[in-house]
Amino acid sequence: MPKKKDSLKTYNEKRDFAKSPEPTGDQLAKKIKKSKKPIFVIQKHEASHLHYDFRLEIDGVLVSWAIPKGPSPNPTIKRLAIQTEDHPLDYAYFEGIIPEGYGAGEVMVWDLGIYENLKDVTMKKALKEGRIEIFLEGQKLEGGYALIRTKYGKDESKKNWLFFKMKDDYADGRKNPVSTKDYSVLTGRTIKQIKKDKDSDVYE
Ligand code: MN
Repeated sequence: MPKKKDSLKTYNEKRDFAKSPEPTGDQLAKKIKKSKKPIFVIQKHEASHLHYDFRLEIDGVLVSWAIPKGPSPNPTIKRLAIQTEDHPLDYAYFEGIIPEGYGAGEVMVWDLGIYENLKDVTMKKALKEGRIEIFLEGQKLEGGYALIRTKYGKDESKKNWLFFKMKDDYADGRKNPVSTKDYSVLTGRTIKQIKKDKDSDVYE
């Protein structure tokens, strides 16, 4: 039996929490679970095709989209977001490796936080209408973002949306955190380190 690894070990070892205001991974998870606001998560998923799973808590589940190129804080860049199946709430804290089979590959919690609905209709209604506007308070992403459904025909599998930054003080056309902040907000690990930790588990 492989030993169960403390998934926050790397993150915690790298930081001196007496000096740094950063939360430990479990502090962040606890803080978010305790807050009354709905959560969002972005998981970098190195499956057969790399993508970023964007998930929003709506009525007790994580409504989910796969964004092949990941989010951009630049309002002129609109990203394709393909709606996928809803996930259970606890999935937001999953980081590790999905074994061979559906969705096989590494999963890293790229961003995690809370959000606010900016529209005057419920999230459920906004989802149904295909027009979502939210304010994200994450560790990396902040500010207003929109999701607009572009394709919704008879074919249920073709739920294509566009995900993009709304124009506000948090918009940033210069740097993209997808490349400048390529680590887990829960454990500080990169996809490579998640792979390595798994390999050392197996050969211990
Ligand atoms: Mn995925």
